[in-house]
Amino acid sequence: GKAVVIVGGGQAGAQVAQSLRQGGFDGPIRLIGDEPHVPYQRPPLSKKFLLGEMAEDGLFLRPPAFYDAQMIDFIPGTLVTRIDPAAKRLSLANGDTMDYGTLVLATGTRARPLPLPGADLDGVVSLRSIADVNDIRARFATARNLVIIGAGYIGLEVAAVARLSGLDVTVLEAEDRPLKRVVSPALSAYYSDLHARNGVRLRVGTGVLSIEGQDGKVTGVLLRDGETVPADVVLVAIGALPNDELAREAGLDVDNGILVDGGGQTSDEAIYACGDCTRFHSARYDRSVRMESVQNAIDQAKAVAQSILGQDVDYDPLPWFWSDQYAVKLQIAGLSEGYDDTKTVGDPSSDKFYVAYLKNNQLIAVDSVNAPRSHMMARRVIGETWRDDLLPDA
Ligand code: FAD
Repeated sequence: GKAVVIVGGGQAGAQVAQSLRQGGFDGPIRLIGDEPHVPYQRPPLSKKFLLGEMAEDGLFLRPPAFYDAQMIDFIPGTLVTRIDPAAKRLSLANGDTMDYGTLVLATGTRARPLPLPGADLDGVVSLRSIADVNDIRARFATARNLVIIGAGYIGLEVAAVARLSGLDVTVLEAEDRPLKRVVSPALSAYYSDLHARNGVRLRVGTGVLSIEGQDGKVTGVLLRDGETVPADVVLVAIGALPNDELAREAGLDVDNGILVDGGGQTSDEAIYACGDCTRFHSARYDRSVRMESVQNAIDQAKAVAQSILGQDVDYDPLPWFWSDQYAVKLQIAGLSEGYDDTKTVGDPSSDKFYVAYLKNNQLIAVDSVNAPRSHMMARRVIGETWRDDLLPDA
């Protein structure tokens, strides 16, 4: 048939459905998600929603009535378990099957599990969904000691919220500085200091041996040096894994992400993919990338919708991202990996500055702290040769 079936009711899946309708597609659209909610934005989950400053329906990307009005058949609470590409048929966990003309995989990522003893104790949590946050908030209400494993964006954002909620917070990081994979040493130093000022104990270079518990409930985290850090709640925030198993089992090309071309097409002509679950070649950065950002989910979803509508599209984004911790907004433009020089402009002690990342004297990325103007300008000049007046004004 002509039906477009979208697996995954998140940021990317919802955008494909919406863009198809906006682009004039008049066939059936079915949007299948395993969560009970209409599609929602995840960024506030570790920020305002966790803090209790945003209600659940404030997360929804569109009001529930939108899907009916747009004749998008939204099917919540339904896990897709198998793709049969030859028959163009899906198997669902409830035993049903569903046929597709065109399939879109927008299955996102899941939290990387902690491969250590005790990881299954009650009180060891990860944060990816509304359900996770509802559980974590209930635990925060009675907890004193929170230990966070991993000083990435989610770990640090939760640390900030937990401090604002009055918890005692320790962050354990195996690397020698926070956010090491994504930002420069200067920015890591800024965030170490920011969290120290707010009473977080951030312990870098710290290996974890196991999670300790009693009667099935977590009591602490045993470090490699023999010390035990007491904990009522342990948040595991050590990154995410792409949900690419459906694609792999269907014989599609997969390599830590579902491989897609510039139009979002997989190695099967009738199957597209977009968002966190994909890997694609970035001509701009001359390497394969798998991104976990709202920008990528939205823009790649739009590219997929255009492809399905028969348009030629070559998705090659300028990536951008943000993170909110306390009153500090970090905005990232571009990908800094592979830089050979940095310029820090403005004074970090004033909580307003930016770091420019250069490679062969070419600007490849800019991290702006409380400097939204610099961020917006950076998006326009990335790729240019650096000069001191290229990006004024932190
Ligand atoms: P998702 O939004 O994860 O949606 C995928 C959906 O598919 C999920 O509902 C999943 O349950 C469902 N699914 C998976 N497999 C199946 C199946 N087999 N059958 C049915 N359904 C299935 N990005 C930013 O740019 N800025 C931020 O500040 C930021 N903060 C974040 C904070 C948190 C706590 C998290 C978790 C993410 C954050 N992100 C942020 C990342 C951003 O939310 C993701 O990049 C974005 O949600 C990706 O959209 P997606 O549609 O690819 O995946």
